[in-house]
Amino acid sequence: MPELPEVETVRRTLSPRVEGRVAVDAWRSRLALHGQPPRGALLRRAVVGATFQAPQRRGKLLLLPTTAGGLLVHLGMSGRLTVTDAAAPAAPHTHLRITFSDGTQLRYVDARRFGQCQPFLGDALPPAWSQQGPDPLTRAFTEEVLAAALQGTRRAVKLALLDQALLAGLGNIYASEALWLARIHPATPAGALLRAQVTALHHAVVTVLTDGVRHGGTTLRDYVDARGGRGSHQDHLQAYGREGQPCARCGMPLRCSVLGQRSTFFCPVCQPSVHVGRQRRGKAARLLGR
Ligand SMILES: [Zn+2]
Repeated sequence: MPELPEVETVRRTLSPRVEGRVAVDAWRSRLALHGQPPRGALLRRAVVGATFQAPQRRGKLLLLPTTAGGLLVHLGMSGRLTVTDAAAPAAPHTHLRITFSDGTQLRYVDARRFGQCQPFLGDALPPAWSQQGPDPLTRAFTEEVLAAALQGTRRAVKLALLDQALLAGLGNIYASEALWLARIHPATPAGALLRAQVTALHHAVVTVLTDGVRHGGTTLRDYVDARGGRGSHQDHLQAYGREGQPCARCGMPLRCSVLGQRSTFFCPVCQPSVHVGRQRRGKAARLLGR
C-alpha cells in the first residue's frame, strides 16, 4: 500500500508531466472507487479547459489543482497514477483518463478500487485534505508535536503511528521500520514512552521516510511512480517482511506478530516489550539493592 514516500515519489515524477498542461478531455469509468460515485460530470468541469498547477502532497493524499478546481487522489491499496501517450493502449482497471493538449494522458489504474479520485471546483477541497495530522516531512512535525500526539493514549504506539489524524503518511511498512530504528516494541502503550524514546522515534520517522523517498519508494506489488518505474526501498528494509531473518543490529531472528490485524515485524532483543523491560529494570534494581 502506497505510504508517504511512494506518494511523494509520484508527486515528484508527476510534477513535470502535468504542471502547465491544459486538459482537453476527461473520462471516468462508471465504477465507484472506495464506495464513492464516479461524478464524471464534475470531473470534466474541474479539469477540461483548465490548466494543471503544481501537484501537492499531504500525508498519503495527492492534490492536483487546476485553474478551475482540481482532483484529490488517494492511491488506496493498488492505485497507479501515470502519464503516458494518449494513444497507448489502456491497462485493465483504468478508471480515469485526462487527456492534455500535448497528446499525453494522465491515467488512474486501480484493480482493487480502494483508492479515491475526488474532483472539486474552486477551492472546495474535500475535507479529507485538512482532516489529517501533521506531515512528518514538514517543519510542523517537531518532537513536541509527536510527544503531544502520543500522550494521553494507551493505544499501542504502532497503532497510534498509523492513525492519519495524529500523523499523516505512515503505513504498516514505515511504521515498522521507524519502531525498529528507534528500538521501541510496537505494542508499547504510546502514552508510556519515555521522553528519550519519543526523541528517538521522531528522528526515526523522519529518517525512514526520507530514505524511502530517496529510494523512490517501496515496490512490493503494485506501486509505480508517474513514469511507471518501480521503487527500490524494498532492498533497504530492516524489519518489514523480514520475519526469521537476522536483525541487522544484533543478529537475532526478527519476529512477526499481529497487532490491530496487521503484521508487525520487530526484533525481540533490540525492541524488548514493556513487560520484559520492566522485568529487566526490576532485576537491575534488585541487583543494585534498591
Ligand atoms: Zn536486534
